[in-house]
Amino acid sequence: MAVYQYHCAEHGVLEVARPIGTAAASELCPDCATPAPRVFTAPRLALGSARNRALIDRAERSADQPAVVSAPPSRRSAPQALNPALARLPRL
Ligand SMILES: [Zn+2]
Repeated sequence: MAVYQYHCAEHGVLEVARPIGTAAASELCPDCATPAPRVFTAPRLALGSARNRALIDRAERSADQPAVVSAPPSRRSAPQALNPALARLPRL
């Protein structure tokens, strides 16, 4: 399966999953039922699962628009909370 993108003039981009090579020139928009022409994009075949895509998208987004934080990360999200072996390392 591949994900093809179409652009509705009113509702923006919509994605449709179809077998490779079976993309139509246009798809009906699910919101307004008008034909939305296909948008040609770079293939995303090698990016893996949705979780991997979310990670890659977040990394790319942080390069351009880094999140501004007002406090250090909580102890819960500290690296030693994720990996118990790090808690045994000497502290400074
Ligand atoms: Zn629409």
